[in-house]
Amino acid sequence: MKRRVKIIATLGPACENAETIRAMAEAGMDVARLNFSHGTHEQHAQRIQTVRQISKELGKEITILQDLQGPKLRVGVLPENGVDLYPGELIVLTSKKELPEVPHSAKILPMDVPNLEASVHEGSRVLMDDGNLELRVKEVTPDYIISEVINGGKLRSQKGVNLPEANLGIEGFTEKDQADLMFGLEHGVDAVAMSFVRTAEDIRTVKRAIESWCPEKCSVPLVIAKIELPEAIQNLHEIVHEADGVMVARGDLGVEMSLAEVPTLQKEIIYLANRHAKIVITATQMLETMIQNPRPTRAEASDVANAVFDGTDAVMLSAETAAGKYPVEVIRTMASIVTDAEMNYTMWGHYKDLPREAVQSDALSITWAARELAHDRDVRAIVVFTETGRTALYTSKSRPAVPILAFTPVQETLQKLGLFWGVSAHLVPFANSVESMIQIVEEMLLGKLGFSKGEQIVLISGLPVGAMRQPNFCLLHTLGETYTYSGNDKKA
Ligand code: PEP
Repeated sequence: MKRRVKIIATLGPACENAETIRAMAEAGMDVARLNFSHGTHEQHAQRIQTVRQISKELGKEITILQDLQGPKLRVGVLPENGVDLYPGELIVLTSKKELPEVPHSAKILPMDVPNLEASVHEGSRVLMDDGNLELRVKEVTPDYIISEVINGGKLRSQKGVNLPEANLGIEGFTEKDQADLMFGLEHGVDAVAMSFVRTAEDIRTVKRAIESWCPEKCSVPLVIAKIELPEAIQNLHEIVHEADGVMVARGDLGVEMSLAEVPTLQKEIIYLANRHAKIVITATQMLETMIQNPRPTRAEASDVANAVFDGTDAVMLSAETAAGKYPVEVIRTMASIVTDAEMNYTMWGHYKDLPREAVQSDALSITWAARELAHDRDVRAIVVFTETGRTALYTSKSRPAVPILAFTPVQETLQKLGLFWGVSAHLVPFANSVESMIQIVEEMLLGKLGFSKGEQIVLISGLPVGAMRQPNFCLLHTLGETYTYSGNDKKA
């Protein structure tokens, strides 16, 4: 059976050329992530064009996920070789554009952190480079702070900064995010991830912006909330409710909160997302050592498999593909670990996460009925006719043991479906009757998809067909048997 959990690969300098991106798609990349913390609009536009072109050539849908930087704090520009920080050393940090005069000959590091001096106090922690380097504030002045290096190492330009005890009062949806989102909408991205979300209102703000800026005929992207702050954990229910999906952004989460809490938080976030039929992505350091090495550690293999068992929809690669030595091999490795875990999903996967109680709707009940029917009759696949993708999502969330084939006449919906667990998407003509749906199913399955006459499938749709209504119709169909469903039940 085809792999169900989807693979997201971040594009970057290590995979700039079309040949590498094609090889990544062939190795199993389902979603291409564009990280707007790095790169120019020209670079991202080129990547979008390349991905769309390769997707067309391979006949494989690749979803494009735009990841907005959000109010990410960064170190300023440092010398090309970076700066070495030694434990015990005193370092001056400043957010001032003009480096201030300081009383002693300490190294001065420029910080891209608004209100830094007003937001920390003696004893505050300053974490850099995903928490690899740690400083503690010794003294605060209006123009700079003096801090002591606790954990040292090499610091390079524009590495991330976390101030877990500080409240900087910065807008969540920055000017840069707004410009980047507008660019993303103009270039037809399929999903947008928002970093450092604190509340459900942050998601509503992004959704309002999408609604008002969406150019003519723009497809509204899915909005994914990155969960990486303690406040987001406190407001998790409301955020899950508001967003189309969430990302367990373990990089910043593990710095902003205790590292020890990350495994449990991952389970809680996945559980909640699944119960509310929302997409969930597990991200960061999944196969980190493959940035440098051709093989991962056993611990990393276990981590990927455990995310599958936890019930994630997708697993994400960041620097492994964007800046690593093995952008294609790491996807192949991830795909093989996922596939093996999925073969044992019945034994170890989390079924209690399934979204039966939290969402009440005709659509969800029909997809559950389809799942039961599919299992009971041991059919080859569940076929879903979907215009917006919602029926495909609900079917995916019922985690059936058989493949989900999503048939849609809408190109933009097709592109989003790459992110959905267990769904393979196909563009089909618009159907306006049950008969035309059956005809499409017969042509697609017996033709392109290699099914055989006599095999059964379950079909889900809304009736009347083409009326854009929630699914209310579920049919057990035997391939090769054509009926007139609207009149007497006569064999044609
Ligand atoms: C993370 O922090 O895990 C994450 C995915 O965010 P970033 O875009 O900063 O890597």
